[in-house]
Amino acid sequence: MIQAILRKCKRCGRYTLRKDRCPYCGGEVVNPHPPKYSPDDRYFIYRLLTKIVSGEIKLPEDVKNRLIEKIYGRTQQVIEASSQTSESSKSS
Ligand SMILES: [Zn+2]
Repeated sequence: MIQAILRKCKRCGRYTLRKDRCPYCGGEVVNPHPPKYSPDDRYFIYRLLTKIVSGEIKLPEDVKNRLIEKIYGRTQQVIEASSQTSESSKSS
C-alpha cells in the first residue's frame, strides 16, 4: 500500500517518502491516513452540510434542521455561503 510509506508534512502539506521530516520545509511529517482519526474529517461534515443545504442531498426537514442545529456553531459560514450560492444560481 502506498499509504504505508507516504508521509504528509504538517507544515506545508506536501507528501514525501521521508519518515523523519519534510524535505521541503523541515516540518514534521505524519501518516496521511491514520487508522483511528483523520484531521481531515471535519471537512467531511462541511461538504456534507453544503450538499444538504444546497439540496443535493435530500433529507426530511426535521432531520436536516436537527443536523444543522447540531453543527451550526462550526458551520455557520458554510451555511450562509452555500445558501447564497444556491439562491443566486436559482434566480439566474
Ligand atoms: Zn513541509
